[in-house]
Amino acid sequence: MKTFALVGNPNCGKTTLFNALTGATAHVGNWPGVTVDRREGVYKGGGKNIAIVDLPGIYSLSPYTPEEVISRNYILDDRPDGIINIVDATNLERNLYLTTQLLEMDVPVIVALNMMDEVSKSGDKIDSAALERELGVPVVEICALKGGGIKQLMDKAAALPPERKGVTVLTGMIDKQLQTACAFYESEAVPSPLFHAVKLLENDELELSRKGAEETLKNAACGADLEAEIADGRYKYISEKLSVAKVKANRDIMTKSDKRDKLLTHRVWAIPVFIVILFAIFHVTFSEDFLYMGAWSRIGGGEGLPAVDSFNLSEGLATFVGIFYDGAVFSPGVILFNAFDTVFGLITDAVGGAISVEWLSGLVADGILGGIFAVLGFLPQILLLFLWFSILEDTGYMARIAFVLDRIFRRFGLSGRAFI
Ligand code: GDP
Ligand code: MG
Repeated sequence: MKTFALVGNPNCGKTTLFNALTGATAHVGNWPGVTVDRREGVYKGGGKNIAIVDLPGIYSLSPYTPEEVISRNYILDDRPDGIINIVDATNLERNLYLTTQLLEMDVPVIVALNMMDEVSKSGDKIDSAALERELGVPVVEICALKGGGIKQLMDKAAALPPERKGVTVLTGMIDKQLQTACAFYESEAVPSPLFHAVKLLENDELELSRKGAEETLKNAACGADLEAEIADGRYKYISEKLSVAKVKANRDIMTKSDKRDKLLTHRVWAIPVFIVILFAIFHVTFSEDFLYMGAWSRIGGGEGLPAVDSFNLSEGLATFVGIFYDGAVFSPGVILFNAFDTVFGLITDAVGGAISVEWLSGLVADGILGGIFAVLGFLPQILLLFLWFSILEDTGYMARIAFVLDRIFRRFGLSGRAFI
């Protein structure tokens, strides 16, 4: 049975396609040693069964995250019969960055242009034939959500030739350096020499651990740092060659999501917008002066908001109000923290009071419970913070900002995701 791996950016629809392909045959495990899901199943269409593996969502094949290392090593070591590279067609340029790296491996590749329903809805057109000519691998339009194009995709995948030699979009840039690096991997009889050679020139740490690699890099690059140059080369190729495949039906009509995308990935505005969003997240989670109501009220010599003590409330009520307010309105994160803290305080007092031996009461209430609650108390705020980040991830914003930051972070040898 042939095995195909699904590879693509986070949020490109990999899991949706995987479910559509494998249905009830799917099972989920873990990749060895890490808590990253490993989904496998069997596609039973068109007479032949094909095993499908859903690899983790990635933006690049650099060795910066466990997901990237898993996907890369799976393709290189487990050698699937082919890769189905899922590309979110509504974010063509960003998604193709990964494609340019996959093409460098010696493995058959087919590109599945997903979310074509969204593309049509926005009135755009993608010239998938032009894309296919440019990339040199089959391109099939699909809609994983509604099952459109899946049969054609799998028919073409099954008909892929068993072998493909890696090619790079970096030709004309670093040819000599690549030649030297390639020769090294070829002499070592390593499969996918081109892929390894490019990664070596990127100072990839997984490559550098190979014996003789450091020496080869020195000979090939003569001390030059090519990592940023290679990333720029990929982006340049994508914006010059591949944007021709994207035809706007009517250039004057920008859809809402186009406009949003334009701002969120804008050359100048993307980073200020990102900073504002991060600031808002931390403000909502950690600020003890929500929306700066307390600060505003002190502007121009104002008195500020009154403290809870000045309300003459009964002790219980004052404690309750103090969860939400004390001279300033607390942010939702701080309110959660205070609520937890108050409940913990009541429990500690009750337990401490119930034990009559003084040293034992101190040990249990102040020592054990106090210690546990001091740590647990931060849990609500951390959970809230993770909630915001998972929303950013699911809406695809993280993918956009990682893309924007990638160019900058590459210069420091990090990927765009490193900011998080
Ligand atoms: P993954 O992160 O790559 O596994 O992506 P998912 O399969 O979880 O899909 C991400 C989001 O895109 C989900 O909300 C899907 O419903 C949606 N999605 C997936 N495929 C399509 C498609 O063909 N069309 C549309 N409109 N949405 C899709
Ligand atoms: Mg998924």
